[in-house]
Amino acid sequence: MLARIMARIMTYSGIDLHTHTTASDGALKPDELLKLAIQNGTQMLAITDHDTITGYLAARNTVQHKALAIGLISGVEISTTWQGMGLHIVGLHFDPEHPAITRLLASQARARRLRCQMILDKLAKINMLITFEELQAGAGHGHIGRPHIAQIMIAKGYVANMSQAFKKYLGAGKIGDVKSGWVSLAETVTAINDSGGIAVIAHPNHYKMTRSKLLHMIDEFIALGGRGIEVISGKQHAEITMKFAHIASDKGLLASVGSDFHRYLPYAPSVGQLPHLPELSTLIWTLFNT
Ligand code: AMP
Ligand code: MN
Ligand code: MN
Ligand code: MN
Repeated sequence: MLARIMARIMTYSGIDLHTHTTASDGALKPDELLKLAIQNGTQMLAITDHDTITGYLAARNTVQHKALAIGLISGVEISTTWQGMGLHIVGLHFDPEHPAITRLLASQARARRLRCQMILDKLAKINMLITFEELQAGAGHGHIGRPHIAQIMIAKGYVANMSQAFKKYLGAGKIGDVKSGWVSLAETVTAINDSGGIAVIAHPNHYKMTRSKLLHMIDEFIALGGRGIEVISGKQHAEITMKFAHIASDKGLLASVGSDFHRYLPYAPSVGQLPHLPELSTLIWTLFNT
């Protein structure tokens, strides 16, 4: 199936290599995301939930059983730390049953639960009382993250909306911004490579870094075995796309594209609806059928 789709794709069209489902903090179940992706004309899709592949595995079953006409790539978005900062690394096209990746994900699941409890303890100190059980109920069977904590804050009237929750309590530098426990950038890139995948720097424009620090991070990522970068991530200005297309080409990185779709929003791209990559880019999906 993938090879046939590859043959049809001469240039970029309908490819989305960064999306979320209810297995992490997305609003759509894996099957609902698939349906929307196909409706939108997506030919190649990666489901890249935060630190879990359960959404991908469910979607893979559906694609196989219903013989859906979509190329589904294995994917995950790993929360890592590098020099004390949080960095998100997308893993693509790995063997989802390989112990290198399953071990890493098991350790991330533990880290996520511990971090979550630490955030709740910190919030309790400022009299914002949220229990682990409340969160679990809100997250269903998915991995718990800060957006779930934010949802309870809204439900309990502590904040008016999601962006206020991050601005006041959960965002970078705020009381609920606990990074401890995440795997290192090095371990992440190694696990992705060992399981046959490609490591990609997610949404490079989101990090609050100087250009020289960003280039330093990219060099280290490459030295560790990282091979890709999201030249297009969600809605961004054309200048940002050109900036990262040039960085990717200068550094010999493969260019990836992803909507980072979590839920329908009027001002953000839907699944698979992304602009073309600049001509100078080396398209990451040219590696997927080898
Ligand atoms: P976590 O995985 O627990 O670290 O939570 C990070 C997730 O929170 C990101 O993947 C986004 O989906 C979401 N997020 C981060 N910052 C904001 C923000 N300012 N407003 C709304 N959602 C955010
Ligand atoms: Mn998210
Ligand atoms: Mn991210
Ligand atoms: Mn994401």
